[in-house]
Amino acid sequence: MISNSDIERILDRADIVDVVGQFVQLQRAGVRYKACCPFHSEDTPSFMVDQARGLWYCFGACKEGGNVIKFVQKINNMNFPEACHWLADKYGIDIEDKNEKKSPDELKAIRKRESMFAINSYAADFFISNLDKPEADAARAKIKQRWGEQYPQEQGIGYALPSWSSFADAALKAGYSTELMVECGLIRQRKEGGYYDFYRDRIMIPIRDRFRNIIGWTARDMSEVEGTPKYLNSCQSEIYDKSDSIFGIDNAIRQAAKEEKFYCVEGAPDVMRLQSLGINNTIASLGAAWTKKQFYQLKKYATSICFLPDADAVKPGEQYGTGIAAVIKSGQLAMECGFSVSVKEIPVGDGNTKNDPDSYCTNRTRFKDLEEVDFITWYAGYAFKADGTTEDKSSAVTKIAQMVAMVGDDVKEQMYLEQLKKIYNHGKL
Ligand SMILES: [Zn+2]
Repeated sequence: MISNSDIERILDRADIVDVVGQFVQLQRAGVRYKACCPFHSEDTPSFMVDQARGLWYCFGACKEGGNVIKFVQKINNMNFPEACHWLADKYGIDIEDKNEKKSPDELKAIRKRESMFAINSYAADFFISNLDKPEADAARAKIKQRWGEQYPQEQGIGYALPSWSSFADAALKAGYSTELMVECGLIRQRKEGGYYDFYRDRIMIPIRDRFRNIIGWTARDMSEVEGTPKYLNSCQSEIYDKSDSIFGIDNAIRQAAKEEKFYCVEGAPDVMRLQSLGINNTIASLGAAWTKKQFYQLKKYATSICFLPDADAVKPGEQYGTGIAAVIKSGQLAMECGFSVSVKEIPVGDGNTKNDPDSYCTNRTRFKDLEEVDFITWYAGYAFKADGTTEDKSSAVTKIAQMVAMVGDDVKEQMYLEQLKKIYNHGKL
């Protein structure tokens, strides 16, 4: 059995263009590479390699893709461990099979996780195949309108039919364990016996881990029935933990390592918008707030975090909207975890309406043009607002002093103090 840390080292080192290029003639096509697909016969290239995301995908007959390990499995006709060893040899990475060191309980837990990944993978194929059905007309149009043609295919976005048990029926017939499907949150037991689908009439967006395993779903409602939650996320399970799962991490790592930075946004739709614009190092926490567990995972790849808060309508009597309040908290936590932190703030919509990265960043220029401000200076701008009370201001001074101390660089500290003095006295720089 190959450990996760060994798989991570392989994924970090093995360059997908380098590996695929060994088997097929790749041509540059914008930010990607294309070729005639090695897995089906074609004259016009529909096989794409995205170096920044570490992904390949065939938009032709195969409609299949994955990371570099999956490519090696397919092209060399190898199983997963064989492909890992092949890549480890190629890149001179030492990996060891630790099978014999695992206790029976550990092996059982690993097998359970693998079975759950297999169920989610089967579900993904099922939801994708639903898109060809007439019931999916509205969902298909919505997906295309929101994210274009290629991104949804690469990400394996599908659709759960409105019927009560189409998935449960198919999956039971295919022999998957009901107990594990319930734990994955895909089906539920009926009181009178039998099972029904948890997700109905929803666009199914897979949540993946670092290794591209599907660990859960975020599902967007298509019924528009009043009282139905717009997004429904997977329940907590053996493979999905809200407090340490990070949406978009599978696509984000390479670019984050290159730019030394992650962009943190509030929700999955924001990640999908920015990633579909090629800003791949965008991620979201699917719980309410970011946690230390999540930030520590990011530290391996980048030293900076830039937050894009939702611009919520500010209610009368409030200092700032909920999106800003959330980033004030998360920004401090990220600093405690040792990141250098900045903020790109989105303007509130016309007539004091909500805006978020999904609604605002309709193209790359709109994202690029957002000014990136240092977190401490940004926070001080809010905390020292001219209309704030003296108490507000003095409690903010304590907080800011703590943050400046965290920076741990004398020159920077001096710079901060100069700036903060100005903001304190004039409400701005
Ligand atoms: Zn193909």
